[in-house]
Amino acid sequence: MDRKKLAAVTEHTRGILKEHPLCDNCLGRMFAGKLGVLSHKRLGNKIRNKLKQKPPPTCYICKNLMSNLDTQVKKMVEISKEYQFSTFLIGAILQPSIHDRDDVIRSKFKLRGIASIKSDVTRELGKSFSRKTRTVVDYQNPDLVFTIDFKKEYCEIKPKALLLQARYTKEVRGLPQKQKPCDQCDGRGCFVCDFHGIREFNSVEGKIAKFLIEKFGAQQAKMTWLGSEDESSLVLGNGRPFFVKLVNPHKRRISVAKKIELDGVSILGLRVMAKIPSDPVRFRTRVKMEIEAEDDVSASMLEELKKLEAQHVVLYENSGHKHKKTIYNIRFKSVSGRSFSMMMESDGGIPLKRFVTGQDVEPSISSMLETNCRCTLFDFRKIIVTR
Ligand SMILES: [Zn+2]
Ligand SMILES: [Zn+2]
Repeated sequence: MDRKKLAAVTEHTRGILKEHPLCDNCLGRMFAGKLGVLSHKRLGNKIRNKLKQKPPPTCYICKNLMSNLDTQVKKMVEISKEYQFSTFLIGAILQPSIHDRDDVIRSKFKLRGIASIKSDVTRELGKSFSRKTRTVVDYQNPDLVFTIDFKKEYCEIKPKALLLQARYTKEVRGLPQKQKPCDQCDGRGCFVCDFHGIREFNSVEGKIAKFLIEKFGAQQAKMTWLGSEDESSLVLGNGRPFFVKLVNPHKRRISVAKKIELDGVSILGLRVMAKIPSDPVRFRTRVKMEIEAEDDVSASMLEELKKLEAQHVVLYENSGHKHKKTIYNIRFKSVSGRSFSMMMESDGGIPLKRFVTGQDVEPSISSMLETNCRCTLFDFRKIIVTR
């Protein structure tokens, strides 16, 4: 440390302390930047020793807040016990009067470029909490965020959402894909739904949500699906990909089986992901469809449908938008009278029932066969992510 600078600072301090008693932390903070010192407390103590002064009973600026941070750290350790985390960040709200008194000293003694008392509070809390819990501060993407309000005397803890990806298969018919949101809160979460946003767990979404909420001690599981199916559809093969945002999780480390069986629904390859894709994910589907026509169909008539291979179908949306989707491959399984079954590989996102009837889809099975057709059942055999 520069001796000359320290001597000048010590003289300056004598004037300040004559009017305003300061604790070591607040005193050191005033000159730490100027002297290039990291520990405010140690610098404050050093200056005070040079002046042969005793610490005051009460600090003019912080009213001894800085020397009583241990109580706060204890509280933080206590409330964070039930969470798995390796990084954290602290935000603090101080009494406005502390900031006011800090400003008084700065302007009265013309001190510039000084760390705010708030940043000193969070820094000291962070150092001590980090040591006690063997975790580190992360400003960008912390697992836990503490908000400590010294005004209202509360300490709040907020875990970062956990993002997961997996696939699911559905081996039973009669199970809807999506769960109806709680009718009291429309899915936001309320007392009635125990803050889960859903009240029942009798769908693919419900079963998966229930498992994840319990496994990770989370409040809500918000799903994003790659495509959708009917209540009567099966989802077989490698399953349908989906993403989950787990809100307020207590656990963040995953140790689960590659396949989790949940009574008719299985979760495959569950893992943590860094970010849920914001752009639509492109995928192809292989589906088996059961189709019924108004008139008898013959194998030779069905040959007509082969013309759809490597062709686009156009979807017309109510909004006026048009989408083009490609059919890659069509095969027929069995034909008898007015019904037949068909295997089709195509771009994902084709509304299959509308593709059969021809409602706002061109061309369609009905238009190609020149008879009204409807799809009575469709099952997913494979879903392939192409990007
Ligand atoms: Zn102080
Ligand atoms: Zn609710």
